[in-house]
Amino acid sequence: MKPAHYVNGAFSTEGAAFPLVSPVDGRQVGAVPEASRETVDAAVNAARSALGGDWGRTSVEERCAFLRRIADGIEARFDEFVDAETADTGKPRELAATVDIPRAVGNFRAYADLAYGRPERAYQTRVPGWSGSGQALNYTVRRPLGVVAVVSPWNLPLLLLTWKVAPALAAGNAVVAKPSEETPSTATLLAEVIDAAGLPPGAFNLVHGHGAGAAGEYLTSHAGIDAIAFTGASATGAAIMRAAADHVTPVSFELGGKNPALVFADADLTEAVEGTVRSAFTHSGQICLCTERVYVQRPVFEEFVRALGERTRALTGYGPMISAEHRDKVLSYYRLAAGEGATIVAGGGVPRFGDERDGGFHVEPTVLTGLPESSRVVREEIFGPVCHVAPFDDEDEAVRLANDSPYGLAATVWTTDLSRAHRVAPRVEAGIVWVNCWNLRDLRTPFGGVKASGIGREGGEYSLDFFSEPVNVCVKI
Ligand code: NAD
Repeated sequence: MKPAHYVNGAFSTEGAAFPLVSPVDGRQVGAVPEASRETVDAAVNAARSALGGDWGRTSVEERCAFLRRIADGIEARFDEFVDAETADTGKPRELAATVDIPRAVGNFRAYADLAYGRPERAYQTRVPGWSGSGQALNYTVRRPLGVVAVVSPWNLPLLLLTWKVAPALAAGNAVVAKPSEETPSTATLLAEVIDAAGLPPGAFNLVHGHGAGAAGEYLTSHAGIDAIAFTGASATGAAIMRAAADHVTPVSFELGGKNPALVFADADLTEAVEGTVRSAFTHSGQICLCTERVYVQRPVFEEFVRALGERTRALTGYGPMISAEHRDKVLSYYRLAAGEGATIVAGGGVPRFGDERDGGFHVEPTVLTGLPESSRVVREEIFGPVCHVAPFDDEDEAVRLANDSPYGLAATVWTTDLSRAHRVAPRVEAGIVWVNCWNLRDLRTPFGGVKASGIGREGGEYSLDFFSEPVNVCVKI
């Protein structure tokens, strides 16, 4: 399978090609076509035409049936999807097979269920005495936004792309998607599945290419789009927001994080350590929800750090960073931490395998302690397999430390005290707070971040609301 654009129901590889590099061993494994401004224009125009044609006339039942066919189509080619996701990202095959691809299938099924079963908005009768007179019947209908741009990152390529594409299509929009330039393969397979599912041409379009000064920017600054759903870095979100301002285009942003975990002395320490290993090191820390700051109540601090260090040193089978550039960025933080006098409890360098993986972009899972909260290592999103562990004394201090961040995506609280859990969770400035678990996801719940971690919420009704426009109809009786 070669990465290809999918515009108006046709595949093409027009545009200059750039290399696709395997993060596992650093070898070039393919080429990706770079969409020109003309290709992006064609995709946006095709989407617009689809809204005025067959796609715009579909009922929600028909769209949900399409979504189910797409889910079935991904499942029918499950192994191909897993292979492609594993090859592009370097993540362990098991992760792609148990999380990325099943969740992509789940996204289509979940939004088919949700959109199909969604009740009409309540009818309201009012007798307005304060503006005009007489009785009126008000009811609210929802209409699609129009042409939606979906721009997604490389860490969970198909999962995050479909997380937006599914509700956007369910709500009746036409989509132009641009996946990350680093991970074009499963998006291309998705376009093949959508094509086979028989969606009208133009309902879903895919363009490949880079972000700034390229396909991503052409798309998000395009006058022909009606909304932007973006997942990626906060700095990119800011750039997209500036571009969106010109046309007052609505945005939904899922951005970066510097997620804290709070471990109280009453926690089940074994669970807290295991949970933190998962939350810090799954996909080598390259998930927006990963923990990078761990705060542990002082009586159990030493014990927790010792246990976390031991578990971290024993980790094997972890995948690489996505690129040489990202590996270098993560290593620069390792060097900075060492230079600032951090205690390196585990890792801190580059692993040696003695095989072809030494040409890839691996870094060691790393646990640090001893840095001040002002350190860049503690404040900035690293997006690698690394966490810094610091002690706290009481609940107030734990909450203050957790909230002392420009980000506010997700947090985890480890405690066996039920009252404490309920007291602390709502005080943490984050869109998602997990108690005694991490990344346990019900797709109907609101997902998103506060502060620099995002704008708006996606998930369940929240996504269907973002991807549609409420229109109130007022009938004088
Ligand atoms: P990125 O922001 O570099 O790129 C994301 C996408 O935006 C890519 O498709 C890229 O080509 C495009 N892009 C880049 N610059 C652009 C521009 N100026 N205009 C339009 N498009 C542009 O992010 P990344 O490195 O791919 O992903 C890692 C980041 O994503 C991390 O910060 C991580 O926390 C964040 N993330 C957030 C969530 C979440 O749900 N909150 C989920 C996953 C990743």
